[in-house]
Amino acid sequence: MKLAPVIGLEIHVQLKTKSKMFCACSNEGETAAPNTTICPICTGQPGTLPSLNGEALRMGIKTGRALSCTIPDHAKFDRKSYFYPDLPKGYQISQYDLPVAEHGSILIEMEATAPRPSFTIGITRAHLEEDAAKLLHLGDGTTAVDYNRASSPLLEIVTDPDFTSPAEAKAFLTEMRAILRTIDVSDADMEKGHMRCDANVSMRRMNDDGTPLDPHFNPKVELKNLNSFRAIERALAYEIERQSALFHSNTPPAISETRGWNDARGVTESQRTKESANDYRYFPEPDLPALDLRKLREAISLPELPRALRLRLKDEYALAVVDARILVEEQGAVAYFEQVMSELRAWLEALPENEGTREELWETHKTKLSKLATGWMLSKLWGLMAENNITTQTLKITPENFAEFLSLIHTSKINSTAAQTILREMLLHGKDPSHIMEDKQLGQMESTDALAPIIERIVRENPKLAADYRAGKIVVLKSLIGLTMKATEGRAHPKVTEELLKLHLEQ
Ligand code: ADP
Ligand code: ZN
Ligand code: MG
Repeated sequence: MKLAPVIGLEIHVQLKTKSKMFCACSNEGETAAPNTTICPICTGQPGTLPSLNGEALRMGIKTGRALSCTIPDHAKFDRKSYFYPDLPKGYQISQYDLPVAEHGSILIEMEATAPRPSFTIGITRAHLEEDAAKLLHLGDGTTAVDYNRASSPLLEIVTDPDFTSPAEAKAFLTEMRAILRTIDVSDADMEKGHMRCDANVSMRRMNDDGTPLDPHFNPKVELKNLNSFRAIERALAYEIERQSALFHSNTPPAISETRGWNDARGVTESQRTKESANDYRYFPEPDLPALDLRKLREAISLPELPRALRLRLKDEYALAVVDARILVEEQGAVAYFEQVMSELRAWLEALPENEGTREELWETHKTKLSKLATGWMLSKLWGLMAENNITTQTLKITPENFAEFLSLIHTSKINSTAAQTILREMLLHGKDPSHIMEDKQLGQMESTDALAPIIERIVRENPKLAADYRAGKIVVLKSLIGLTMKATEGRAHPKVTEELLKLHLEQ
């Protein structure tokens, strides 16, 4: 029997507004002491009234537009009832039948060897709702509640069941994260809970020609407690295996079920079945007016989205696809890279010895310069930043200084060892690279004055090599160059060194 997975995702995105969804409390409770960013509204005191955060609404619409959704003329809020200590009102304000966005899609591109190198995922809807409080299970069997997160703005994005593998789900979430960061509505960090994902999965029996044998989808399992990309991939893979085995033993799942991912054990565990599912008793929220989105949706503009951005980076700077991907996925990185490239271009055009028009000059050099820039930025600079807990936002190295640094490497004024020392200094102290090079004497040694005494000493201390060379064994020159490099910590200019050595040995 041939089986194919059917997967759909539900993603909760924490919107990075200044204040909470329905009150003026700070939305940065995550970093504050427990129960300090709270008020009577977000702790559900009787007699309080919510008022909608306009920024959250705009972010919801902006995301909807970025996902090619229809933004309807009207939307409203509804009460979703459930009783749990993380929800002080006894209901969550959410959106039921009139969400802020629906019927969208995203195009996903994977590597050419993937079963589907490119595919579209339908976005069913995106709706606004408030977050719940955080429960802290203390070791002694009691549970504490931190209401700082209560009523933080969330956008829930629901996809159609369009994924055919765990790898596709991961590629989609990666693109979703890039979009959310690009349009600046969320930090979308899964490990920090800024982006939380439930994955729904069922199996479908297939004909040999790849068409479905089952006319409808089968009952699904909703997977919870997925806290990383890796957890999502592992949990889906596990669940596909588990359900497939049920089909093979002629006991396919008969009812829908919610299962939790146990990361330590690497298994999913049943939490509840559809028969005992909650009845949320949705009804319109009477304390919030219905929304007219007609003016608002026109007023919101979008920046260049990840896919377009990647294509442009590839076009404009001849960037490799992987490098373009990495840049786009890191907040603020594309802007930084483009400033560096524009500095490098200006520097290139100002060099006296260059010929040709500015365009010709750029065309000749851009590939090499962009490779140099991404090479140093993505590996060395980001590595150092991670080591020192520095983000693009807190980085002291200006694009001007980074471009100057790259120009020193490009023109061989510094070697790779010196460059790493200089980069570290720039990162920690924000100084400009030429100064560091001079202060620390890290520049390449190419003057005869500086090199001649060293070369003289090397020859004196290695009489055997010198004699061999003079006897016609030219290859020993390589050893002598090597010794000079070692003595100068790699700073000796190779060509000048070679010339001086020959001169000295042959006199
Ligand atoms: P529920 O009734 O549990 O709320 P929905 O129809 O609202 O289910 O769908 C929730 C999510 O589950 C969506 O992402 C949807 O694509 C996905 N989904 C729905 N049915 C299936 C199925 N049979 N197999 C896999 N995923 C499904
Ligand atoms: Zn509040
Ligand atoms: Mg649903």
